[in-house]
Amino acid sequence: CVNVVLFTADLRLHDNPVLGAALRAAERVVPLFVIDSGIAGAGLVTPARAAFLSDCLADLDGGLRARGSRLIVRAGDVVRETCRVAAEAGATEVHVASGASGYAQRREERLRSALTVDGRSLRVHDAVTTAVAPGVLVPSGKDHYSVFTPYHRRWSTERLRPVSPAPRRVELPRLRSLPLPGAGDLARGTAPAGLPKGGETEGRRRLAAWLRSGLAGYAETHDDLAADATSRLSPYLHFGCLSPVEVISRARRAASAGERHAGEGAEAFVRQLAWRDFHHQVLAAVPAAAHRDYRARHDRWRTDPDELAAWRAGMTGYPVVDAAMRQLAHEGWMHNRARMLVASFLTKSLYHDWREGAGHFEGLLVDADVANNRLNWQWAAGTGNDTRPHRVLNPLVQARRFDPRGDYVRRWVPELAALPGAAVHTPWRLGGAERVALRYPAPVVDLTEGLARFRRARGLD
Ligand code: FAD
Repeated sequence: CVNVVLFTADLRLHDNPVLGAALRAAERVVPLFVIDSGIAGAGLVTPARAAFLSDCLADLDGGLRARGSRLIVRAGDVVRETCRVAAEAGATEVHVASGASGYAQRREERLRSALTVDGRSLRVHDAVTTAVAPGVLVPSGKDHYSVFTPYHRRWSTERLRPVSPAPRRVELPRLRSLPLPGAGDLARGTAPAGLPKGGETEGRRRLAAWLRSGLAGYAETHDDLAADATSRLSPYLHFGCLSPVEVISRARRAASAGERHAGEGAEAFVRQLAWRDFHHQVLAAVPAAAHRDYRARHDRWRTDPDELAAWRAGMTGYPVVDAAMRQLAHEGWMHNRARMLVASFLTKSLYHDWREGAGHFEGLLVDADVANNRLNWQWAAGTGNDTRPHRVLNPLVQARRFDPRGDYVRRWVPELAALPGAAVHTPWRLGGAERVALRYPAPVVDLTEGLARFRRARGLD
C-alpha cells in the first residue's frame, strides 16, 4: 500500500514522526510538498523566507534521493493538491504534523473532510513541530496555560518521546513533480544579504557546532548583544529542519556529558525552547491571539507615520534601537534581547499598535513564526502573557546593561562608529558641530514624556 507524507513545518528526515509513521504503515511513501497558494496569498512568503525555504526543499530532496526517492512538489491549494496526489498514487492515508495556528488547524479540518469523501484517512502527528504538543499540559479547569512559570515547571518534568533516526530507504511510486522552486519562484524581491543557508544538513551542522562550543556559555552570555552568543537555530526550528525534541535531548545529553557550565547553559537554553512550546500552546487554544489582544484590551494606540517609518528604518535616534532594526534588515534576524527592547520601544515609548511591529518583523525575519512573533509582541506590548504588563524597557538602561562597551551599536550604526565605549549610546550629549557632523537623527521621543503618555493611556496614574 501507499501513504502520502505532506511536509509542512517539518522539513527534515531525522526524527520526523510523520515520515516514520507513514513508512511503518506502507511499503511506498510519497514525500509531498505543496507550494501553498493560501500561504503565498497571505503575504507570508517574503524574500528571506523564500530563499531559506528553497534551500530547505533542495536539501530535503537531496536527502530523499540518497534514499532512493525524491520530493514531489506541487503548487496550488494545499488540500486540493494533496487529495489529487493521494488519488494519483492510490494512497490509503495522508500523514501530516499538527500545527498551532488557525491556518494549520483549518488545513487539518479541510484535509480530513476532503480525504474522507474520497475514502482515505488523515493521520495527524503531535510533538513534531513542538517538543510537547499543545493541549498535553493543561491546568485544571482550563484549556491552556496563560502564565509561563507554572507551564515551564510542568513542561520540564514531561517525558519527551524518543528521538528517531532518519529512514534508510524511502520507496516512491511513479508520480510527476514540478521542479524544485528557486527563491525567485516563491517570492519577488531581494533577500537580506546576511541570510543563513537553509536546510536540514546545515541545521544539523550548526546544532552540532553549537552544542560543542556555544551551549556551555549560554547562561552567562545569551543577553550580551555584542557577543552574539545565542544558537541562531530559530529559522531551522521554524521550518522544521531541526526537531525540537532532538535539540532538547541533545542539549540535555551534552550537559550530562559533563563539560564545565554545560549544565547551566543547557538549562537556560532548554528554557527558551519551553517558551517556544508555551507560545504554541497559547496560539493553538486561542488562534485569534494572532490578531487580537490576548488579555488586556488596548485600542487607544497612537498613529504617527513618521515615527513608525523612523523605527522601521533604524533612524529613531536611539542607537541601540537603530542597531537592532538595521541588523533585522541586513540579516533577516535579530537578537532576542534586541527584539524585546525594540518592541517595548515601539509599543510603550512610542505607543504604537503591536500589530504594526509584528507585521514589520514578519516582512523581514527569516524565522517569522505566528506563535512566537505575535505572542512575543503581545508580551512586549503588555497585552499578552507578561505577568508585569506595565514594565517599560528603557532603551538607554538596556543599552548600558546589554551592550556596555557599545560594540553592538558600532557594528550596525556606522555613523556612530567613531564614538568610543558607552558614549555611543548618547550621541545627543556631544557638542554642536560634532553632533551635526555625525549625520545621525535626534531622538524621536523624549523618554520621560513617552513614559508619562504610556502611564496615562494605561490608566496607571
Ligand atoms: P536562542 O537564544 O538560541 O534560543 C533557542 C531557541 O529557543 C530559539 O531558536 C527559539 O526557537 C526559541 N526561543 C528563544 N527565545 C524565545 C522566545 N522569547 N519565545 C519563543 N521561543 C524562543 N522567535 C521566532 O522563532 N520567530 C519569531 O517570529 C519571533 N519573533 C519575536 C518577536 C519579539 C518581539 C520577541 C521579543 C521575540 C521573538 N522571537 C521569535 C523569540 C526570540 O527572539 C527568537 O526565537 C530568538 O532570538 C532566536 O534566536 P536564537 O535561535 O539564537 O535563540
